[in-house]
Amino acid sequence: MPKYVFDFIEGGKDLAELLGGKGANLAEMTRLGLPVPPGFTVSTEACRGYLATGTVPAGLFDQVNRHLRLVEDRFGKVFGDPRDPLLLSVRSGGKYSMPGMMETILDIGLTDASVPGLAACSGDPRAAWDSYRRLIAMFGRTVRGVPAEAFERELAAHRSHAGVANDAELTEADLRHLVDVYKKVFHDHTGRDFPQAPHEQLYQAIEAVFASWNTERAVLYRRQEHIPHDLGTAVNVMAMVFGNLGPDSGTGVAFTRDPATGATGVYGDYLANAQGEDVVAGIRTPVPLEELERLDARSFAQLTSIMAMLERHYRDLCDIEFTIERGKLWMLQTRVGKRTPAAAFTIAAQLVDEGVIELDEALLRVTGAQLDQLMFPRFDRTAAPKPLAVGIPASPGAASGRVVFDAVRAAQWAATGERVILVRRETNPDDLPGMIAAQGILTSRGGKTSHAAVVARGMGRTCVCGAEALDVDATGRRFSVAGTVVSEGDVVSIDGTTGEVFPGELPVRPSPVARYLQGDVPAAGTDALLDAVHRLVTHADRVRRLGVQANADTGVDAGRARRFGAEGIGLCRTEHMFLGERRALVERLILADGDGERAAALAALLPSQRADFVQIFEAMDGLPVTVRLLDPPLHEFLPPLAELTARVARAEALGRDPGRDGALLAAVRRMHEQNPMLGLRGVRLGLVIPGLFAMQVRAIAQAAADCAARGLSPRPEIMVPLVATAPELAAVRAEAEQILAETDGLPPVPIGTMIEVPRAALTAGEIAGVAEFFSFGTNDLTQLGWGFSRDDVEGEFFPRYLGMGIFGVSPFESIDTSGVGRLVRIATEEGRAARPDLRIGVCGEHGGEPDSIHFFHDAGLDYVSCSPFRVPVARLEAGRAAVAARTSTTSDSR
Ligand code: ADP
Ligand code: MG
Ligand code: MG
Repeated sequence: MPKYVFDFIEGGKDLAELLGGKGANLAEMTRLGLPVPPGFTVSTEACRGYLATGTVPAGLFDQVNRHLRLVEDRFGKVFGDPRDPLLLSVRSGGKYSMPGMMETILDIGLTDASVPGLAACSGDPRAAWDSYRRLIAMFGRTVRGVPAEAFERELAAHRSHAGVANDAELTEADLRHLVDVYKKVFHDHTGRDFPQAPHEQLYQAIEAVFASWNTERAVLYRRQEHIPHDLGTAVNVMAMVFGNLGPDSGTGVAFTRDPATGATGVYGDYLANAQGEDVVAGIRTPVPLEELERLDARSFAQLTSIMAMLERHYRDLCDIEFTIERGKLWMLQTRVGKRTPAAAFTIAAQLVDEGVIELDEALLRVTGAQLDQLMFPRFDRTAAPKPLAVGIPASPGAASGRVVFDAVRAAQWAATGERVILVRRETNPDDLPGMIAAQGILTSRGGKTSHAAVVARGMGRTCVCGAEALDVDATGRRFSVAGTVVSEGDVVSIDGTTGEVFPGELPVRPSPVARYLQGDVPAAGTDALLDAVHRLVTHADRVRRLGVQANADTGVDAGRARRFGAEGIGLCRTEHMFLGERRALVERLILADGDGERAAALAALLPSQRADFVQIFEAMDGLPVTVRLLDPPLHEFLPPLAELTARVARAEALGRDPGRDGALLAAVRRMHEQNPMLGLRGVRLGLVIPGLFAMQVRAIAQAAADCAARGLSPRPEIMVPLVATAPELAAVRAEAEQILAETDGLPPVPIGTMIEVPRAALTAGEIAGVAEFFSFGTNDLTQLGWGFSRDDVEGEFFPRYLGMGIFGVSPFESIDTSGVGRLVRIATEEGRAARPDLRIGVCGEHGGEPDSIHFFHDAGLDYVSCSPFRVPVARLEAGRAAVAARTSTTSDSR
């Protein structure tokens, strides 16, 4: 039988896969000699077994019992002993942290028989009965599916009966009575009595934690965070300790640095006379951790020294959960802490300065997604009204939207394209769909470590929490603050960096990081964040192998891309050059009757094409500009069929000659295609419409010659779209070479092709014979590889596919490495075999997507090209990919 159960002294931090993050780190702390209550971890392997078969693996509970005896020995109490019972917490924890998404059950082992014993030994009967009450509710909810409201209703009724506002004011007698009521609720909903056998409670709790891996909210969270669904959760069983035994007890959450800004110095929340779940739930607003120094100087000193030790040990920001039971400190959890994007950059640079890590490692500690977040705009506060309230800045960003008061409505409104701010007194895991859908989250209760804050930071959502001035009336769908009432649908703006809540929508301006990356402000010595971004991005530039170019079609975009650090244009689309007022010229081209008319139409288009290219070559002076010849089907440049039909019908009804509209209508009908994506487009268009590509090549050549004559260094490259077979490219190439040869004063102009048809990828060796470069058009390659029409599938059934787990992320978002990626690898290998100096890049949107960039690095590409705003992200990720490949750590970009 496999070993499913591991004592804390057997594990360690590198075993997160098997023991979950929480279990691995509890083991690590135990080995470091820290005061962790004794316990053991049931492995994720056992959970996977359970999930596969629906039953607990045979022999598991025997192993549990054996380890439980060790815990009893070490803690000096016996599970089920009515005089002084050992109680247990049964906690979920997978490889990746999923805050509050799975279940944890506390106080397992408490029964009618042992409550009096606990009361006597703790000297606090009230706390004993309160624990029992909580156990029945938590167990009922989690193990037996009793609705939480059933218990909450009774609790609320009892509070008002006792005339108190707060659970803490309920007396021992109140709680004894509530226990009876809860037991009845339990029985009414389950048809059984609350189990009085401690082992029975333990076994069922373990099974319930396994099952909570697949609760709706856990599945949703994993989908949002791209965590695989097949990992399973571990279960941590440990001795309970009590923070609710009076003023010399308490519980808290702390960070070794500020997770919002990265500022050094311990940082956290503390709640005296409370159990851990009270802090996370944000039910009472805790006090800053520094208060603990005043309350219990000895525990505070011990805690801060443990935190310093943990940070040295993990070489990174750690967060912890701790409880003090009558002056004795217990460590209940630690992990490398989640942090805001700003903190991630700042801390990585700090750790380099402190000599803890090297720049390479610092680069692995930040992500392109975080950099992207830092480039989001900020509020322009020159015009800001007085804030309605100031709460705790929990997760940065500037968010405006209509207020909604429940998660369901938030998701509904967001689905219609509305921007919403989710306003709650406090959030709980059931609010997750609304938190994902909202631009920002605003709560009136809870600290920086409340559920709202932790989850928002993890997802990069803007969050202001604990804005206590707000009186949130969720049922009435409004909140009031200092005489102002804000109702559902009203617009507010929240600033997650300052905690301010403003009425109405505030204008935004570029973030300092975006301004720095655009070259508008210098980085050095200005502020810690810009300095950190500068150091890490320039380090990425030093170590990356992939070049980073941009997709840009105009001089303005090209200029912006260059300021963002683009090393050229990897894709200059020419289709917009056929739109606007030039559409008339295109119509002339399409309607041309005979060679003469066609030549005239093309000649009329030439000067404007040339002028476009001149602007781009100027903006990209000295850098390559890859111009893609016309790609989309021509009818995209004509008026829609329905519109033309109506115009012609109207003219005919009025007895007028429809004139040109009639000819256009005939052309549109003639050119109608069942599947335009697979029809006359790309290279096919160039081969079928005489002179079209020739005109474009001529415009490129003339523009380049013009720039060169003025002393500039234009570096045009010509790229042919949708090639499926070498002869297509050879034909275009022959024509283009002839035109280029006719133009004086030209630098060499490489001619290459997009690889975006699977056949091209599979015959790359032949195509490389006539191409000087390849550029993967991964969007079309994905469409044609999967047989998906992007516009038809993304809105239609992708959500279902994602829900069914057919893929974890859309292949249009992140490259499908095993299918489309294989085409990329084959084409790269065979292309290079045929032409060793073949340059290979990618110009699909995947070129700016972090995971895809890592794949392109590994596949040996030379460059990626992406939209100008993604260029800094691509630079950073290309650097990270190079370092990750070199250190070949099990590096995890999450
Ligand atoms: P989460 O992963 O959602 O934070 P946890 O498993 O950490 O859930 O547990 C929920 C709460 O219960 C935490 O505040 C934790 O500190 C507290 N807790 C867990 N185990 C114990 C224990 N053995 N004694 C006292 N409190 C505990
Ligand atoms: Mg926890
Ligand atoms: Mg394409």
